[in-house]
Amino acid sequence: MIKFLDLHKINKRFRGEIDAHFKTILDSGWYLQGAQNEAFSQNFATFCGTKYALGVANGLDAINLIIKGYGFGAGDEIIVPANTFIATILAVSENGCTPVLVEPDINTYCLNPDLIEEKITPKTKAIMVVHLYGQATPMEKIWALAKKYNLKIIEDAAQEHGALYQGHKVGNLGDAAAFSFYPGKNLGALGDAGGVTTNDTALYEKVKALANYGSDRKYHHIYKGVNSRMDELQAAVLDVKLPHLDADNERRREIAGYYRDNIKNPNIILPQTYDEQSHVWHVFVIRTPRREELQKYLEDNGIQTNIHYPTPPHKQGAYREWEKLSFPVSEKIHQEVLSLPISPVLSADEVKKVVEVINEWK
Ligand SMILES: *Cc1c(COP(=O)(O)O)cnc(C)c1O
Repeated sequence: MIKFLDLHKINKRFRGEIDAHFKTILDSGWYLQGAQNEAFSQNFATFCGTKYALGVANGLDAINLIIKGYGFGAGDEIIVPANTFIATILAVSENGCTPVLVEPDINTYCLNPDLIEEKITPKTKAIMVVHLYGQATPMEKIWALAKKYNLKIIEDAAQEHGALYQGHKVGNLGDAAAFSFYPGKNLGALGDAGGVTTNDTALYEKVKALANYGSDRKYHHIYKGVNSRMDELQAAVLDVKLPHLDADNERRREIAGYYRDNIKNPNIILPQTYDEQSHVWHVFVIRTPRREELQKYLEDNGIQTNIHYPTPPHKQGAYREWEKLSFPVSEKIHQEVLSLPISPVLSADEVKKVVEVINEWK
């Protein structure tokens, strides 16, 4: 069986270094807010080219904390793609803001920049871009709109560690960015972890306090904060893996290139990219109207796949109030997408087999 994602194989490459760090941390008796978080946040900020990075408990919290940090709440609207993992939208509604859904572009699967302006009202506070599947959202028009209407740009970069958009790292394309280091992401911990990057000093200070009980110094609480910190153990794992992220992303690009050059089946739509460096292929998503049939065929031929995602947020039980809304592009994407195996540890033989099996599908 070719696994969709072999996390054991991915992390086994770093076993020696991770073991050594775990021993040091265990012996140090210091498990939160210590040297490992300090080192990783500095290295991750340098990697993203931002002034600041902060480790938090997970990606959902990272988005949540940015929205709280800007003080957005009831009565405020935030523009989000209709096509995203539900966490993006949950973070907006959690803060009492209204998520204003905008259709994606059928070619990039990211927010369609041409459909944003008509959704901007006097209540709009921010545009949340989601660099879905590992591809950067085309930003020019979004930058211009943010300027014109004085809006914040928040990046949900949970699927995009290390991509370059016009020479700028993702995480540094807006006012603040949220990362997830969930185990399956391109940079993944051994459990939950997340991060916030920004160049905004005031936002950074506030988010840092909010994530630690709203405290700017011990037992001094200036905000109604939460507890959302990254464990020292996770920070150490991420710091071991970070120097290898670019090479891992490059291997993903090679595999994606091989798939795109060699999958030749008229029943399948391949993903497009407008710029190689702007895509880190978190997932390799193909489309076919006969998605369930293809998934079963691949499973029967020893290839595990996944669906990102089967149901759009506006059709989820959590958002019953949106039941009647219609986003045909997003709905079509959710009905047709299938993610093929892709990861830095997938072997050349495995990649070749995936192509052969797909090309034989009638
Ligand atoms: C994974 C993911 C998140 C949430 O991250 P967690 O660390 O699982 O909380 C948010 N947005 C997107 C687009 C994601 O893929």
